[in-house]
Amino acid sequence: MPPRDPHSYSDLGQGSIRHIDFQFLMDFDSRTLSGRGAYELDRPCQGPFDLDIRGLDVIAVRSGQGALDWSLGPDDPILGQRLRIADLAGRQGFDIEFRTRPSASALQWLTPEQTGGRLHPYLFTQCQPIHARTVFPCQDSPSVRFTYSAELTVPSDLTAVMAAAGLGHRQDGHTRRFRFRMPQPIPSYLFALAVGDLTFRELGPRTGVYCEPGLAEKAAWEFAQTEEMLAKAEGLYGPYDWERYDLLVMPPSFPYGGMENPRLTFLTPTILAGNRALVNLIAHELAHSWTGNLVTNATWEDFWLNEGWTTYAERRIIEALEGADGANLRAQTGRNSMFRAMRRFGMDSDPTRLKFSQAGIDPESVVSYVPYEKGYSFLVRLERLAGRPAFDRFVHEYIGDHRFQSITTEDFIEYLRRKLPQAARAIDLQAWLYEPGFPDDAPPFPSRMGDDVSERLFDYQEGRLPRREDVAEWTTAQIYLFLQFLPRQLPVEDCRALDPIFDMPKNRIVVHHSQFYEISIRSGYREILPRVEALLSAVGRVFVVAPVFQALAETSWSRPMVRSLFERHRARHHPITVATVDQILQRAGV
Ligand SMILES: [Zn+2]
Repeated sequence: MPPRDPHSYSDLGQGSIRHIDFQFLMDFDSRTLSGRGAYELDRPCQGPFDLDIRGLDVIAVRSGQGALDWSLGPDDPILGQRLRIADLAGRQGFDIEFRTRPSASALQWLTPEQTGGRLHPYLFTQCQPIHARTVFPCQDSPSVRFTYSAELTVPSDLTAVMAAAGLGHRQDGHTRRFRFRMPQPIPSYLFALAVGDLTFRELGPRTGVYCEPGLAEKAAWEFAQTEEMLAKAEGLYGPYDWERYDLLVMPPSFPYGGMENPRLTFLTPTILAGNRALVNLIAHELAHSWTGNLVTNATWEDFWLNEGWTTYAERRIIEALEGADGANLRAQTGRNSMFRAMRRFGMDSDPTRLKFSQAGIDPESVVSYVPYEKGYSFLVRLERLAGRPAFDRFVHEYIGDHRFQSITTEDFIEYLRRKLPQAARAIDLQAWLYEPGFPDDAPPFPSRMGDDVSERLFDYQEGRLPRREDVAEWTTAQIYLFLQFLPRQLPVEDCRALDPIFDMPKNRIVVHHSQFYEISIRSGYREILPRVEALLSAVGRVFVVAPVFQALAETSWSRPMVRSLFERHRARHHPITVATVDQILQRAGV
């Protein structure tokens, strides 16, 4: 029996959902989805059955033609409400009719202005971690897996996609009805759909990309390596269990880097850099097909099992494609980001632990680099203790033995002790998994490319700027590492000099812009402002825009203009980005 999930009202002792047959009618004018679900359980159930909802209107609960009694519990701001069906009396299923609200946190309704093409509206979901309950009633815990089928009725000029197998569509007057089937069982957080003006390009026999028509050429070129990556990943982790691996390039206002929705990864368009330099993001989302989607954390307290393992897998794919030096360089950058996050939380605080009690805590509020990078360091430490051949066998078996299952940290420890007893004894599991801060025996990540960056940083401290020819051959990751380690405030003439050295005006890597603009603003390099505004009007990814807005709000020369700059572009941004920036500006008192 899985542990009780602190983020769900569901009680798996009552039974669990095995399949849902959905019908959704979408309405852009009212920003609602009207839905019906026919739920099938794993066994006939007696007594009450509990589901999660949050800000969702339940219209009716039925069994066949008869209504079933149901009630709602008190409304918790994080968990929402318990929907209790009073008594299933031996039934193995029920039907629920429901309607989403415009404020549903999983549903992002974009105006045409917020898309790349600017002509059609767009809808997409983001259910991780606990937003699925705002779209349909469910046992919203990653420990419950179900298959589904769905029929989605949308305006006739738009295309619907889901993280599922498409079964085609039918034109019906002013609407189109798309059908989908998800044959592999998923936890609720991997339910995903998107609707917009979309086109498709094939990349390989099992891979392809969906995007707005204006991006099709660029996307097909940027992602040409996807089939090769899939083959590399299979070499490391075993067969790909989801049949297809397609990518969906999101509109510019997409607030995240990527989301590993099964069969259909959602990706930020900022990845389209024109040089295939940001493919590590695809490697990460692809790796989730094994670690996360196939072997899943049982609760959000075990999130490192998803993200630490996926960061490990991502860097193994990068190592196979680019060599160990490049993978270690990225590991150095990641560890640096992790330390920044730990210092922000406080080195002794709970969010620096890989596992801690999250009862009463919104899991989204404690997401940081810690589960990714501390989890990664822990796994590399284990790999080095066991030796790579033994660890590779362990990884294969770990994935094979837990396919389509959800496990806890404690399940992992038990499995590790059984399969790699010596490594398990040689490492301090308590310190790595449950204690705050960062253990002393963390593995180093030697990288010649990283050393080259460190040398230039040392030179800079000594008063010597790098020359253009010193960095001409640097990779995207090296430039990022250099910018990340530079002080946030420099003499303004150094910013003016670094600008052409890194070819910033022509550079298309927005994560470089984000770092360089932050430093430039704080250093008083005011000439950068038009470029800053161009970035902030075009890109919605929180990771890119938040540090720039923060710098603008905290620096005396730019402070008076940041509010009006933001208001000029507010309509183009996603509600998550808007909320983050509003918070930054409020905290800075502007
Ligand atoms: Zn991830």
